[in-house]
Amino acid sequence: MYSVMSSKAEEFINHEEILETLKYAEENKHNEKLITEIIEKAKLRKGLTHREAMVLLDCDIEEKNQEIYALAKQIKLDFYGNRIVMFAPLYLSNYCINGCEYCPYHRKNKHITRKKLTQEEIKKEVIALQDMGHKRLAIEAGEDPVNNPIEYILESIKTIYSIKHKNGAIRRVNVNIAATTVENYQKLKEAGIGTYILFQETYNKEQYEKLHPSGPKSDYAYHTEAMDRAMDGGIDDVGLGVLFGLNLYRYDFVGLLMHAEHLEAAKGCGPHTISVPRLRTADDINPEEFNNGITDEQFAKIVACIRVAVPYTGMIISTRESKATREKVLELGVSQISGGSRTSVGGYVEEEPEEENSAQFDVNDNRPLDEVIGWLIDMGYVPSFCTACYREGRTGDRFMSLLKGGQIQNCCHPNALMTLNEYLDDYASPSVRAAGKKMIDDELVKIPNPKVRERATNYIHSIDEGERDFRF
Ligand code: SAM
Repeated sequence: MYSVMSSKAEEFINHEEILETLKYAEENKHNEKLITEIIEKAKLRKGLTHREAMVLLDCDIEEKNQEIYALAKQIKLDFYGNRIVMFAPLYLSNYCINGCEYCPYHRKNKHITRKKLTQEEIKKEVIALQDMGHKRLAIEAGEDPVNNPIEYILESIKTIYSIKHKNGAIRRVNVNIAATTVENYQKLKEAGIGTYILFQETYNKEQYEKLHPSGPKSDYAYHTEAMDRAMDGGIDDVGLGVLFGLNLYRYDFVGLLMHAEHLEAAKGCGPHTISVPRLRTADDINPEEFNNGITDEQFAKIVACIRVAVPYTGMIISTRESKATREKVLELGVSQISGGSRTSVGGYVEEEPEEENSAQFDVNDNRPLDEVIGWLIDMGYVPSFCTACYREGRTGDRFMSLLKGGQIQNCCHPNALMTLNEYLDDYASPSVRAAGKKMIDDELVKIPNPKVRERATNYIHSIDEGERDFRF
């Protein structure tokens, strides 16, 4: 039985409800009247149900699809403006006892180089990341209670926050580690993490079990209910995602939205972010063997439909995608991207020699961070290194009310400009600096509240004189 409020995975992600939703969408994909009604509802910016969103995803009336894309762009602009938040992944350890068929960290892989960073090595990686200009990290690790116990993760977070190299600082550590207990989530919360991110990989239980034949991750219910436990442990900001390419994308699209609906209904706050990773080539992984790859067009449509269905949620895209794909989905709804990423353990300090490979997947967008920043500025996006919200206690529903209350231009916009200015003063190449400074001048006038505008302008001058870390 489908129940959005249930705490049981198979009830809030209900197989029969997903199948019925897919059937309903298939039957209505030419239903112009219904599609028009759903688009009108989406224009209210209060979101859509999984059924409504699925009808839009299946819609094959060209003119209506153009309306969906236009609405996604407008909603993106209304809620997130032209700001794009920047982050980088930091791989701590690739030791793993799971059997995930799509991930080269799987236990049986004997030729991948296993590495685990010591605290001293983490320090060096963090300094390298700070020297690039990063302020926000997502830490990544395989699941291995012996090699990567929670104590190791907690100690690593402490190390990361403690390093202040030149003007650098990591001000927000997001965490992408395996599903764990309420007690461990409490410890992560106490350690001051930002978002807890966990990808569902696929919501189809049967397929999930085939793809995860062994190890703790093979327990579908434990994995699917992880976000409930994280929120019970006090973590307000959780990040969902599926790994597109593993299963039929229509099924996972519905599952993802049902999960968001469940968190909103049962925990009072929907996901802080949704990631849309696609399966990539890796050490012993060939994405074509999974037979569920999606085209760039399908991918863009998924992004647009998530944007209109859950307007308040940030959307993340990584360097798994090419520059061209990232460009396309940025305008359709993505609000956060990584840049200059390395997916190998220790990869920021030095490139791995030919004979070693500890990477989780092949990076598609290999450009250095400065080039990514310059590219965003050239396209009219404001790259933001802001981490203010969670440091000001604006997490969970308090962040959502900031968005809903229309205060984002008076809060996020100055924060974005100030953190961009720090980047320009400390790390940018001369051409990116010049383009960024011009952008800041052009964007400051767009802050609606005159007092905030004046304070932001003064703070930007103070940054040029050497002060750091202002925020609204
Ligand atoms: N071990 C933790 C877990 O199982 O959730 C941490 C996550 S792992 C370091 C980060 C994510 O990378 C996984 O959740 C998966 O979706 C993704 N991933 C694994 N193999 C991949 C591949 N070949 N291509 C793209 N993404 C992959």
